[in-house]
Amino acid sequence: MLSISPTISKFSNLSDLHHLNRGRYSRHSLSHLVPPPPSTHIRNTKTLRLRHNFRISAIDAAQPFDYESKISDHIAKSKTLKIAIVGFGNFGQFLAKTLVRQGHTVLAHSRTDYSAIAAEIGVSFYSNADDICEEHPEVILLCTSILSTDKVLRSLPLQRLKRSTLFVDVLSVKEFAKDLFLQILPLDFDILCTHPMFGPESGKNSWKDLPFVYDKVRIGRDESRVSRCEKFLDSFAREGCIMKEMTCAEHDQHAAESQFITHTVGRILEKLDLDSTPINTKGYERLLDLVENTSSDSFELYYGLFMYNKNAMEQLERLDLAFESLKKELFGHLHEVLRKQLFGTKERSLGLLQEPRALSKLPPNGNGSSLPPQSDSSN
Ligand code: NAP
Repeated sequence: MLSISPTISKFSNLSDLHHLNRGRYSRHSLSHLVPPPPSTHIRNTKTLRLRHNFRISAIDAAQPFDYESKISDHIAKSKTLKIAIVGFGNFGQFLAKTLVRQGHTVLAHSRTDYSAIAAEIGVSFYSNADDICEEHPEVILLCTSILSTDKVLRSLPLQRLKRSTLFVDVLSVKEFAKDLFLQILPLDFDILCTHPMFGPESGKNSWKDLPFVYDKVRIGRDESRVSRCEKFLDSFAREGCIMKEMTCAEHDQHAAESQFITHTVGRILEKLDLDSTPINTKGYERLLDLVENTSSDSFELYYGLFMYNKNAMEQLERLDLAFESLKKELFGHLHEVLRKQLFGTKERSLGLLQEPRALSKLPPNGNGSSLPPQSDSSN
C-alpha cells in the first residue's frame, strides 16, 4: 500500500522526494530493496519504488538537505526583510536590536563608524553609502536627526538602489519628512512615514501598548510592494504596538500638543536640577522619571521638534501664557489676603470687598494665543 506522511506528500516534485530520501537512508541500506535502475531514469524510478516500499511517518532532526526545515526556513524568511538603517545613532541602534531579533537582515550606515557596536547587535555596518546601497536592501530606514535628514537623503546614491525600494523614516516630525521624501525621491520609490511614539528609555523593556503612527504616503499597487510595506509595519504590530494610521499633518498637530509639551516641561525641570528626597510622592517620582526620559534624548532632537513642527511655537507661547496666568492667580489671592488684613474692616463695612476670582483656562489650541479678558479686581 502506498502510504506516505502528510509532510512528505507536500513535495509533489519527485526529484525533491528523491533527494530527501537519499539523504535519510544510505544507498547501502536501500540496496536490498531497490535494484540499480537504468542510469537515464535513475531519479524517477527510484523515487517511485521508494513510495511503494516505505512508509515514512516522522521527520526528526533537521539536516541541511531536509526539505521540511528548508520550507519552514522559507516561511520564516518570507516574513523578513533586508533593511538598511541610515543613521545608526541612539534610536537607529535601538530599533536594530528588535529587527535583528525578529530575523530581518539588518545593515547600517552612519557618519560615525559604529562597526563594533553593529557587530555586537548582529548588524552589518557599511561606512560607505555606495556599498550599502549596492547591497540592494528592500527597505531604507532613515533614523537620522531631524536637522540632518535633508543633507543625508540628498547624499545617498539613489541610482545604486533597486528602483522599487521602500523608504521609511522615523522622524518625530512628519510633515517635514513627507515633504522631503516627495521632493527628493524619484517616483519609483515607495514612501512610508512613521513615528514610533517611544524611545530607548520608554521602550527598553517592551513595545507592548506603545503607539506607532504611520502614513502610507506612496505605496505602489503591486502586490509585492503592498506586502513589503505590511511586513515592515508588522515588525511593530507583532511587538504589541498600538498601530495608528493618520496623516502626517494630524500627527504634527497631536505631537505638538503632547510630545513637544512633554519634552519642554522635562527640559525646564532638568534645569532645576531636581533631587530625589526621602519623602518623594508618586507625582514627584513621575516628574523625576520625566526628566530622566527627556534628558536622555539629544538637544538636537528637541530642537528639531520645535523647528520643524509648525504647531510647536503656538504650544510654547501657550505654555508661557499659562505659567504667567497661574502666577497671576496666585499673586491675586495673595494680594486679596494682604488687602483684607490692611483694609478689611473698613471696606467690608462699605460693601467694597469682593472674593478673588480664579482666572479661566486658556482658549483651546488653534484659537489664538491671547488670554481671555480678565474682570478680576486684582488686575
Ligand atoms: P538624534 O540626535 O535626533 O539623531 C542622531 C542620528 O543623526 C545619528 O545617527 C547621527 O549620526 C545622525 N546625524 C546627526 N547629525 C548628522 C549629520 N550632520 N550628518 C549625518 N548624520 C547626522 O538622536 P536619535 O535619538 O538617534 O534620533 C534619531 C531619529 O529618530 C530622529 O529623527 C528622531 O526624531 C527619531 N526618533 C527618536 C526617538 C527617541 O526616543 N530618541 C523616538 C522616535 C523617533 P552619527 O551618530 O553617525 O553621527
